[in-house]
Amino acid sequence: MTSDIFCQIIAGELATTEVWRDDLVVAFLDHRPVFKGHVLVCPTRHVETLLDLPDELVVPLFSAARSIAAAMGPALGAEGTFVAINNVVSQSVPHLHVHVVPRSKGDGLRGFFWPRTRYADGEEADHAARIREALTRPGQ
Ligand code: AMP
Repeated sequence: MTSDIFCQIIAGELATTEVWRDDLVVAFLDHRPVFKGHVLVCPTRHVETLLDLPDELVVPLFSAARSIAAAMGPALGAEGTFVAINNVVSQSVPHLHVHVVPRSKGDGLRGFFWPRTRYADGEEADHAARIREALTRPGQ
């Protein structure tokens, strides 16, 4: 039983344009690319978000994402890449996927979805302390 559109792609039930596949990872073109050559890199196993990714898939998934990012220059003439994961919020497909988007200076992505804010006095230390504290409790 497949449970989402990327599971269907992985099972071969839905056509896509693959650039990489092994037992653990599949990578295919996003059908509505930010820029042409935009790739989605997914674990073949159904994993919903980054927080659900088992340790044994961390290296395979991110090694594949790194290799695909490295290929963007020689393959497409990209000067760099944008690599991103939406987790729950803004995640339209509930199957973990790493976006690897080819970038070049002046490509117009400047400011894309990165509105910036500022810390009030004391807030920066407080946020860092709260994150450090949570990191000492793995699995939470
Ligand atoms: P996100 O919004 O981060 O969950 O990204 C999901 C991405 O999947 C979007 O960029 C979509 O364009 C892409 N997408 C959805 N369906 C397909 C499909 N059948 N083939 C290729 N890409 C898809």
